[in-house]
Amino acid sequence: MKTPQQYIESLKDGRVVYCNGERVKDVTTHPILKICRDWVAMDYVLQSDSRYQDLLMEKDEDGELVSFALMPQKSREDLLRLREVVKLWARVCFGKPPGAKFVAKDGLNAVTVVSQKIDKKYGTQYAENVEAYRKHLQKNDLAFAMGLTDVKGDRSLRPSQQKRHQDYYVRIVEERKDGIIVRGAKTHISQAPLCNEILIAPCRAMREDDKAYAVSFAVPANTPGITMISAEPEVHEYGNLFDHPIAGSVYINDATIIFEDVFVPKERIFLKGEWDFAGQVAYMFANFHRLSAETYKAMELELFTGAALLMAEYNGVEKAPHIREKLTWLVMYTEAVEVIGRSACEHCISEPDSDLVYPNPMYANICKFYFADNWHQATKYIQDIAGGIAVTAPSGKDFMNPETHDLLDKYLGGREGVPTEHRLRMAKLIRDLTSSYEDVLTIHAEGSLEAQKLSIYSLADFDRYKAAAKRAARIQDGVKDNLFRQLPEFPPKGL
Ligand SMILES: Cc1cc2nc3c(=O)[nH]c(=O)nc-3n(C[C@H](O)[C@H](O)[C@H](O)COP(=O)(O)OP(=O)(O)OC[C@H]3O[C@@H](n4cnc5c(N)ncnc54)[C@H](O)[C@@H]3O)c2cc1C
Repeated sequence: MKTPQQYIESLKDGRVVYCNGERVKDVTTHPILKICRDWVAMDYVLQSDSRYQDLLMEKDEDGELVSFALMPQKSREDLLRLREVVKLWARVCFGKPPGAKFVAKDGLNAVTVVSQKIDKKYGTQYAENVEAYRKHLQKNDLAFAMGLTDVKGDRSLRPSQQKRHQDYYVRIVEERKDGIIVRGAKTHISQAPLCNEILIAPCRAMREDDKAYAVSFAVPANTPGITMISAEPEVHEYGNLFDHPIAGSVYINDATIIFEDVFVPKERIFLKGEWDFAGQVAYMFANFHRLSAETYKAMELELFTGAALLMAEYNGVEKAPHIREKLTWLVMYTEAVEVIGRSACEHCISEPDSDLVYPNPMYANICKFYFADNWHQATKYIQDIAGGIAVTAPSGKDFMNPETHDLLDKYLGGREGVPTEHRLRMAKLIRDLTSSYEDVLTIHAEGSLEAQKLSIYSLADFDRYKAAAKRAARIQDGVKDNLFRQLPEFPPKGL
């Protein structure tokens, strides 16, 4: 088990990271990357806290305490416990779980499941590699990022069909006895510059022509040939928590990672050219990752709805019928995400040929789609409730400045008894919660809306729906179904 300080020390390894136009000498002391560092470090702060160890830690087969999030989940109870882990992470960090293991644990589970299938078909030994990697992560308590999303170039073309160049998807450029050389780039990879390791997997199904792109592996973040370019930070100063209560303490840093002829040793390879399994890794990642996405979103929404109500109270409008209507909608939205997300775990699926379970993909995809599709409606409501001050409030520095403080305190106040400072702080919180970063994150992170719709359509039990409709319409076309034909006749005859 690492302490937060050991985690921070472990990042001083010569990695190549850029941020705001400059090469970063030390990611642990950089003024903006420190925001990301502190956020990821919360993972280690929490597991060092005896109050949370029963939830966050578990004994491995050697009797050593390791992170529960790095254990494979094998039962409904495991999934429900993982939900509690994600809830704690998210509640502590204002809706955004610290990323030491949050995303990549789902990729690790995906390669655990798929590697066994590849080995069965092709006689490879990837499952052994995955297991050894899992142990390595557990024993060294490492922070790792998940690189699934390729930069993709022209979206209408498959990886090998790309015209401008062949490196829009990470690919194998050379095979050696002791490993492979890879080239390409992944993008939006959350907290990668502040992680120890990067786990890479394909983001889509491949065809035989795309064989070189069917590759999954893991490498340390300081591996020669890797360049990480940070996502543009939303805030430009460390510690300004008045103006940026969330963005000033959570910098997810969804970086672009470039692989320029990077060597991957053979024991860290989990897929190498078995193109028919590439899509399964991406699909499995989504299955496991839905739990994470839906759980943290429910926690973010409880905070979001709380902010809407408080701002209504501070402004003295909480009893107005149109405000109550919006607050009621926000409560329904918040609680529905919680309930559907939990229900996906209650009705989990056991993966054939493996002892792992994941949330029911039908319910999980509905939940993900529902929260993403309704997010802009929610931000519209909270922005309406908050008024223009959500984006026009003077900075905390003006509020604290003795020359302007009393003026702002007098004129930007709300309801009697509510300090002006509280109203301003709530306005800043609402600005952070409804930023364009939050908008795009909610739509795209964990997969765009169409991805969920495709899954929902392909999983739907249309025969059941059709059988119900045909029975009501008294259509007998000889198509058998197991549910409706056993039901008693209705209306009953002879009464
Ligand atoms: C804040 C944030 C954090 C993220 N963190 C991670 C992470 O840690 N790791 C990771 O691997 N990924 C991460 N992602 C990536 C995320 O999974 C992708 O953003 C998402 O899958 C969409 O891909 P894209 O951004 O390339 O958009 P695009 O794929 O370009 O999608 C844009 C639009 O084009 C449509 N489209 C795309 N291709 C086609 C096609 N062939 N046919 C028809 N329509 C198409 C999409 O449906 C969508 O409507 C993150 C994203 C965000 C925003």
